[in-house]
Amino acid sequence: MNRRLGVGVAAVVMIVVAYAALVGGRAGGEATAVAVEDYGRAVAALSAVVACSIAARRAAGPTRIGWSLLALSALSWGAGTLYGAVSEVNLGVAAPFPSLADAGHLAAVPLAAAALLAFPFGPATAMGRIRLVLDSLSVATSLAYIAWSVGLGSLESQARTGVLGGLLLVAYPAADLVLLTMIAMSVRRAAGEYPLLARLFGAAFLCNLVADASFAYFALHGQGGALGGLSAAGWVAGYLVLALAAVAGISAPAARSSAADEVGMGHLALPWIGVAGVIAASIWVAATGRQTGVTAALIGSGMGIVFISSQVLTLRDALGLLVRSRRAESELRERTALLVEITERSPLGIARITEDLHIIDVNPRLSEMLAVPARALAGAPLGQFLGPGDVEKALARNELMKSGRLSHAEVDGEMRSADGRTFWVHRRVTPVFKANGLIHYFLVMFEDVSEKHRLEEAALANLAELERISRLKSEFLSMVSHEFRTALTGIQGYSEVLTTDEVTTDEVKEFAGDVNSEAQRLNRMITEMLDMDRIESGRIQLHLQPVDLNELVTQVVERSRMLSTKHSITIALDPSAPCIEGDSDRLTQVVSNLLTNAVKYSPGGGEILVSTRVADGHVEVAVQDHGQGIPPEFVTKIFGRYERYESAGAAKVVGTGLGLAISQQIVQLHKGRIWVESVVGAGSIFRFIIPLSPAAASATVAAPR
Ligand code: ADP
Repeated sequence: MNRRLGVGVAAVVMIVVAYAALVGGRAGGEATAVAVEDYGRAVAALSAVVACSIAARRAAGPTRIGWSLLALSALSWGAGTLYGAVSEVNLGVAAPFPSLADAGHLAAVPLAAAALLAFPFGPATAMGRIRLVLDSLSVATSLAYIAWSVGLGSLESQARTGVLGGLLLVAYPAADLVLLTMIAMSVRRAAGEYPLLARLFGAAFLCNLVADASFAYFALHGQGGALGGLSAAGWVAGYLVLALAAVAGISAPAARSSAADEVGMGHLALPWIGVAGVIAASIWVAATGRQTGVTAALIGSGMGIVFISSQVLTLRDALGLLVRSRRAESELRERTALLVEITERSPLGIARITEDLHIIDVNPRLSEMLAVPARALAGAPLGQFLGPGDVEKALARNELMKSGRLSHAEVDGEMRSADGRTFWVHRRVTPVFKANGLIHYFLVMFEDVSEKHRLEEAALANLAELERISRLKSEFLSMVSHEFRTALTGIQGYSEVLTTDEVTTDEVKEFAGDVNSEAQRLNRMITEMLDMDRIESGRIQLHLQPVDLNELVTQVVERSRMLSTKHSITIALDPSAPCIEGDSDRLTQVVSNLLTNAVKYSPGGGEILVSTRVADGHVEVAVQDHGQGIPPEFVTKIFGRYERYESAGAAKVVGTGLGLAISQQIVQLHKGRIWVESVVGAGSIFRFIIPLSPAAASATVAAPR
């Protein structure tokens, strides 16, 4: 409670006590007491008018309307009271009951009710407000009926106030009850709390209720004077509290809560409790044989009308609610069906997983991915399908998501299905929390990205291969330029020497031979490079004709014998080998390359055997040396472009790394195959096979051996 309010409450209490003492004690004589009593009430009401008008000026929106209506209500009540005071005190004629004063008093009630509806603590909808008024009326009329039946009725017949007078006597407290019930019900429904302003209104109307009820009681008992005057203290207190509420600087709630329109069980039951009370009172009246009279009948009928109206509205509400709930239900059903449809047909695997990575349930796609029926997966640990170490990482991520440090996780990893298939999966894990903030489950989406992963891997491998080739190519270029420079330096040197006069004829021959061999080496190199270029661009063309490989091998060997004196080159030919369809120049190139290599890579000399044989529809040519051999990891590589293997410690052998690549291309163009069998330190056998033409093949099979 703020300070201003505290002071205000103390002031109100003091004024009311002083007023009660003056009026009750009749200190200044009867006339003064009556004057104080009548004008005191009017002044209290008018102070409320002023205070509420000030509050209305300061406020805006619905609160302003509320204060204005309250000011009007107080004005109406004050005017009625003033009318009574003037006629009683100044004109010396006590206003009759009922009189014009009662018109002012009665008019104050609907204005106050309208004010309460205007303040933003009640229901938001018009229908809600109408129900609130009807229910409050129903409660008040029930109580009035009960009060009348139980005791007030008999008093009325004694007091002879007449039907209208009797009704009015009951109407005032009943009206206060209506206002009080409205405050109680509307505010309670709002947020389960009573704003301070509503409490003060409640206190004001409670004071009025006490005053009206005691006034009715004293009037029916025929007791006016001092006691009647005391009840007036209640009105004074009521209007002063209202004035205080207006000036205490208490703010009204900012806006209505839509919750205020929700009707609770208590609210629904209230009119029925009233009806039950009315029934009980009627039974009691019938049992005791009392006469209740016209007033009771009128109150009862009023109550009945209000009750029925309130119930019609309740039913209307209930029907509306039913329709809305049916609609919501069918919408929910549709949405659920859609959700099921999406989950069932989703191209993604979906699972709900517990904190410790146990599967709760899965959709058909995931069951298909893991090759396990969906029902069998429920309760199974997800870890059995994950890669090694993935469980620990997943648990660590779950911890982060539990504590809110990670909103969701995206992971790529390998998974293993029950049938042993491995596949790459992109997983998106999202935590789902319960209302209390604890983890409910983890929603995991599985996307099979095996194909994408494979393509990425292939792209990476391609890149690595391209990088390797580019490296080999630059090695090749530096080697080629080095070789060219060396050869040219040699040629230049020899030719310079040859121009001098001191060279003998033998030396001229020798130098010319050297120049020639250097030139041949360069020529070979250029030929290989051009060949490779032609093969790579698909421009090489075979001139096919029958080729006798035995003859071809013999010629190449004859020419090669001059290459080296350290090696003995022998031939072992299969005389049954028929001619094959081939390009004799190109095949000569292959055999010659293999033979040159055999010489180059067996620097210690030794026997080189070149053989032919017919087998399985092919003619096979083999070149065997006893040289340095090739390590197993290079055996397949050496047929690649620029691939060279230099054995450690051996003398440097010059070469482009293109000879075998070209040979392989030529053999493959002949639909054949080339390969090598080699043992490091023991030597190598290069073999290639060329298929026989079908006719030649059948002739070979048929021919006697
Ligand atoms: P080059 O001989 O010009 O280097 P090749 O393509 O003819 O190119 O041979 C590729 C590589 O294969 C050689 O560098 C060598 O390491 C290896 N090689 C070829 N023939 C033999 C052989 N008979 N013995 C051992 N190694 C060989």
